[in-house]
Amino acid sequence: MDYKEPPTEMPKLTRFQRLELWARGYVYIGQFQERGWAGPLPYYVAKCSKCGLQIMRIRGRGWLACPVCMHPHVYFVGLKYYNV
Ligand SMILES: [Zn+2]
Repeated sequence: MDYKEPPTEMPKLTRFQRLELWARGYVYIGQFQERGWAGPLPYYVAKCSKCGLQIMRIRGRGWLACPVCMHPHVYFVGLKYYNV
């Protein structure tokens, strides 16, 4: 199965996605695969307290980090979540 490369511009969110972003602090936007990577990873839109809304890829055991300032956002995606 082929996966697209992650979007470089902020995707247009549906009304429901915007609501989820507001309620949880992040919203799933899909599986994408970066060039040279072994497989796809889930990507999210989440809000960085310094940089605003950013596209973030899941890291480690399920947390997100801002791609601009690398500030971690400890949302344990899919399990439990909280903001830092
Ligand atoms: Zn940031």
